[in-house]
Amino acid sequence: MTKKIVYNTLLGVSSMISVEEALEKVLSCVEILEPEQKPILDCLGQVLAGDVYSTIDIPPLDNAAMDGFALRAKDTHGASESSPRHLAVVGEVAAGSVPTKEVEPGTAIRIMTGAPLPEGADAVVQFESTDEVSRKSSRKDLSQIGILCQAKKGLNVRCRGEDIAKGDLILKKGRVLRPQEIGALAALGRSTALVVRRPIVAILATGDELISVDQPLPPGKIHNSNTYTIAAAVSRYGGIPRILGIGRDSVQSLTKKIDEGLDADMLITSGGVSKGDYDMVKDVLAEQGEIGFWTVCMKPGKPIAFGVIKKVKGREERKMPHLGLPGNPVSSMITFEQFARPAILKMTGKKILAKPTIRAIIDDDIASTDARRLFARVIVTKRGGQYHASVTGPQGSGMLTSMVKANGLAVIPENSNGAKAGDVVEVQMLDWGEEQDEVKTSPIVSIVGKSESGKTVLMEQLITEFKKRGYKVAAVKHSHGEMDIDHPGKDSWKFSQAGSDVVCISSPDKLAFIKNLDRELNINEIMPIIGPGFDLVLAEGFKRSKIRKIEVHRKELGDDLLCSLEELSALVTDASLETLTGDGRKPPVFRWGDAVAIADFIEKNLVLNR
Ligand code: AMP
Ligand code: MG
Repeated sequence: MTKKIVYNTLLGVSSMISVEEALEKVLSCVEILEPEQKPILDCLGQVLAGDVYSTIDIPPLDNAAMDGFALRAKDTHGASESSPRHLAVVGEVAAGSVPTKEVEPGTAIRIMTGAPLPEGADAVVQFESTDEVSRKSSRKDLSQIGILCQAKKGLNVRCRGEDIAKGDLILKKGRVLRPQEIGALAALGRSTALVVRRPIVAILATGDELISVDQPLPPGKIHNSNTYTIAAAVSRYGGIPRILGIGRDSVQSLTKKIDEGLDADMLITSGGVSKGDYDMVKDVLAEQGEIGFWTVCMKPGKPIAFGVIKKVKGREERKMPHLGLPGNPVSSMITFEQFARPAILKMTGKKILAKPTIRAIIDDDIASTDARRLFARVIVTKRGGQYHASVTGPQGSGMLTSMVKANGLAVIPENSNGAKAGDVVEVQMLDWGEEQDEVKTSPIVSIVGKSESGKTVLMEQLITEFKKRGYKVAAVKHSHGEMDIDHPGKDSWKFSQAGSDVVCISSPDKLAFIKNLDRELNINEIMPIIGPGFDLVLAEGFKRSKIRKIEVHRKELGDDLLCSLEELSALVTDASLETLTGDGRKPPVFRWGDAVAIADFIEKNLVLNR
């Protein structure tokens, strides 16, 4: 039976859409895959598909943490170098064996690290704290041992179940398996694990100019490199590449090749999606049904085809997402990173789909002329505790070496006219593992405004609102002068006055931390001190920091604003919009007091879509 390919319209032929819109559409078409049971060593980097409980205690028995003598702590009472306590050595137990004798009062059993503690013993004194060495060298009787220190009960004893107790939840569903988790599974006696299956990604290069890597290069041809870049990237992010080879720029050739890949979880093609005479990928797919074809507001990588191939297999209809990347090697790689990578990660069950990013000072001017989001290839280095990014050189979308040299992609926002040397830009780190993202900074938004504009009131309302939504919130207030909590006369103040660099007050349910500084810190320097793991950081003030800002404006304090409109993510005011913004760019405006709408805006734009 012939397979029928139906290409489903997702967006139709549309005008330019944003990277975020494009990504949302791609992600809406892929789902987490089903679990599979596999040998633990094949599970590295995969996501656990079920909770793992322990059926055993680890360690299974009390055992020695040191080589030495197992004894009763009581028997060492008062022992010292000058006054040893002598015990009769009644046996020896090595790791892997079980003791056959008990430790009676006045006796000891020689024991090796890991060996089970004999009945009666409650401590292990290491060899170095006994006279064994001197006994051996002076050929003294080894059926006795002198203990040279007083041992406490439990000394050098690892207790049964102290690491893992029977019944404990050891690894939660969703956990990404690293070497230590694989070791933990082994320690639990599991040779296999239930993990989310890895997606099979079919890869098809298209173009009459392409020739296989193992062929000499005739005039007019180039080697097919995209297949290899894409396949390596698929493997890197946890997929299984299935290489379909090269499809020619004809309807027949492409249809045949695509048919060969119909069993995969996703199809990635490169080339043939622009407006050239031979750009057949979209035509082939359109012929079989309809096509989703986009122009994404990004550079490089404007033309991208995306859709879902619906395949009828027997009586079953299955869907296969298809991402048609542009052919230029750099465009294809950068669009892969933005769209294919998160799709693969989602299928593998990963939660963090965003590329790890940092903020870096850009060393070069970067011109951006056509209002598209620019991904500049950069080399990131750390100098003086600060990341710097310098452009790798010529940035042609056919120059794969610009990627070879790069370890980051500087993201220059659309409508920004580029960046000037010295600006702080966001950089996607090409080679950082995705888990690094977890400890990355939390999203920050700052509420700014003139004094008495009601910043604090809005802060309180937003904190209440986000707590209601289950958020873990950190609030950071910028103060121009003295601090409310550091009052003269208080103990903390006295310690600080006496010169302590840090004063920390700890109570059963709170921690306050006062640190003397020789210069003011910016919010990004403050965050590591507060710690990671917040869903949202609400700051008050910090009007000069390069962070997302919402200005609170009150009519009675004048028509002017504290920040320029370009700097603001939103404006909250009780005045009419026109008086404030004139004809210029208008950020979203909220009515004073409408904290729910402001929270919705922050949640949608600054937290979920950052
Ligand atoms: P296309 O998007 O099909 O118009 O391709 C644009 C350009 O990308 C072509 O002219 C080739 O130089 C290059 N290209 C396309 N496919 C590949 C490939 N598989 N490997 C290397 N370069 C490619
Ligand atoms: Mg082509």
